[in-house]
Amino acid sequence: MIYFDNAATTFLSDRAAKTYAETATVQYANSESLHSFGFAASNLLENSRRVIAQKMGVKPDEVYFCGCGTLADNTALLGSVNPKRGGRIITTAFEHPAVLNTAKKLEENFEVIYLKPVNGHITPEMLADVLTEDTRLVSVMHVNNETGAVQDIRAMALLAHRVGALFHTDAVQGFMKEPFGYSCVDLASFSAHKTHGPKGLGALYVKKGVNVRPIYYGGEHEKGLFAGTVNVPGICAWAQALTEQDAEKDRKTVALLKERMLMRLAPLCPITVSPEDGSPYILNVVFPHYIAENIIHALSMREMYISSGSACSSRHPGAVFKALGLEQYAKNALRISFCTQNTAEEVDTFCDALGEILSKLIKK
Ligand code: PLP
Repeated sequence: MIYFDNAATTFLSDRAAKTYAETATVQYANSESLHSFGFAASNLLENSRRVIAQKMGVKPDEVYFCGCGTLADNTALLGSVNPKRGGRIITTAFEHPAVLNTAKKLEENFEVIYLKPVNGHITPEMLADVLTEDTRLVSVMHVNNETGAVQDIRAMALLAHRVGALFHTDAVQGFMKEPFGYSCVDLASFSAHKTHGPKGLGALYVKKGVNVRPIYYGGEHEKGLFAGTVNVPGICAWAQALTEQDAEKDRKTVALLKERMLMRLAPLCPITVSPEDGSPYILNVVFPHYIAENIIHALSMREMYISSGSACSSRHPGAVFKALGLEQYAKNALRISFCTQNTAEEVDTFCDALGEILSKLIKK
């Protein structure tokens, strides 16, 4: 099997799986329980929080665990602004649906501006042009999940702060892939399964002093922000997986794979959608005369796995491609996404197979 769909999800690392099993079967107490077994689970939780916070470049008491990246995004947007006060919210047209659809909901009470990428990016200058004194929140993703475009969120956070607005970033595809400390923003969303942690686990970073209301109600877990028994085994497993990674070193390893992929794909004449300075983890290419779904199926028959490069159905072109002004290619785009466990040999085998498949598929 060749797995180049790491932006969709990553495998759980062996040691993380062992940590999960051990915590869930041996140290399985509820971290809120008032007995020594519960205190032991609480200690494991807080140790893991420290490890994960350190990787995020923030303080442990600013990290709140929750059910997934989607929930972190929803809470960041819905919980940080006051509908009664209204005002402007700025986001981008190429956000993940977790932000995009939440922003649509906020249109009921706010003026929501969707910045459209130019040359694949959202720049600080574009943000500066639409920032107003009544801007309450800016949400710009760190790394785009379809193209790998990296946004200068540090500069954008500075601009947002100048008008007194909060700055949120969806860091799901950026965390551990771009060496970056998130303490310069007010809110950041994370998802464990994109970084070799378990599925069904996310985190929201909330800078000290920033007020976020819960979007659902229950007990006092995670200081009341995310009620529900805390997933201690999952969090311990995520911490374990992160300790095995080095964002800087891993980025260099993966960059070589992307470079090789581009070189080996060149004879097949794709259009590269990913910006040149984009994340090395994500490569989006278009073969204009071929339907991506057909290519994906043919590759899948050979146990080679990639994604369509535009989250779309045949009737609904992907929002990202629409935002990029590349609507005409929405059905032709392939997303190839890497992790450090991929190899140069896999790249070669994949490109040979892709060449064969394209030569046999009927052009549309
Ligand atoms: N944000 C981005 C950029 C993503 O790529 C994803 C997942 O694909 C999410 C948010 C949602 O994360 P989760 O699957 O943990 O809900």
